[in-house]
Order: sequence, then C-alpha cells, then structure tokens
Amino acid sequence: MEPTPDAEQMLRASSLRVTRPRIAVLEAVHTHPHADTDTVIAAVRDELPSVSHQAVYDSLHTLTDHGLVRRIQPTGSVARYEARVGDNHHHVVCRSCGAIADVDCAVGEAPCLHASDDNGFVIDEAEVLYWGTCPACTPA
Ligand SMILES: [Zn+2]
Ligand SMILES: [Zn+2]
Repeated sequence: MEPTPDAEQMLRASSLRVTRPRIAVLEAVHTHPHADTDTVIAAVRDELPSVSHQAVYDSLHTLTDHGLVRRIQPTGSVARYEARVGDNHHHVVCRSCGAIADVDCAVGEAPCLHASDDNGFVIDEAEVLYWGTCPACTPA
C-alpha cells in the first residue's frame, strides 16, 4: 500500500521528516486505537516487513513527542497509543480483561475537573480514568 497523503501531511505540518516507518506507524495507530507496542509493530510489518523494532519505537516516541499520537498507560497495562489527540477525551478500562474504550470529555476541554484546592498551582489538566467491567465481562 502506498502511504496515504494524510499521514504525510500530518508529519509535514509538524515539521517532521517524512519517513516510511513514521507513516506506517501513524497509520497503524489510526487503524488500531489503543494498540500496544507489539500490535503496532505487527501492523507496521504488514506494510513494511523489514522494519526494525527500534524504528517503530523511535517513530512512536517522535510522534508522541510532537502530539500526533497520544500515549496512555493505565495502571497494570503496557503503554498504548492512539491517534485521537487534542480533544481531552478520557478512557474507561475493564478491570477484568483490560479492554479500553474512549469516553468523550464531559466539558470538552482540560482541565475538566475543578480542583477543590489548587495549592497555588496553575492547573491545566485533570487526568481522568474510569474503571469498570466491560459488556463482554459483565455476567448476563
Ligand atoms: Zn472486559
Ligand atoms: Zn482513546
């Protein structure tokens, strides 16, 4: 598959050098929301069979640093990546199987929770993570 113009444009808009691993990683994260590194590597290798683990790690870090990819890591989970960035959405995690789903921010922008005491800090984000049981793990 040829690289899509979208991924290329996103890299250029962030002043990043356009490389095949970066394009493939960005596309893999787009198609596999909340994928862990192994899943990203497998998806990227479908496109670029010879890509190294290191190239995928490096691309993930670069894309995350530049805000094209968001990294989340719920307690007890490995790092996961998603391409839905910039909307302050939250996640709900299944305590049983680890499934992750997006939850739109109730307010729409950070910080969506007002601190009862800011302790003099300028607060710009409240990290909200919901925990529960997913439909597949809920006994009928
Ligand atoms: Zn579950
Ligand atoms: Zn998400």
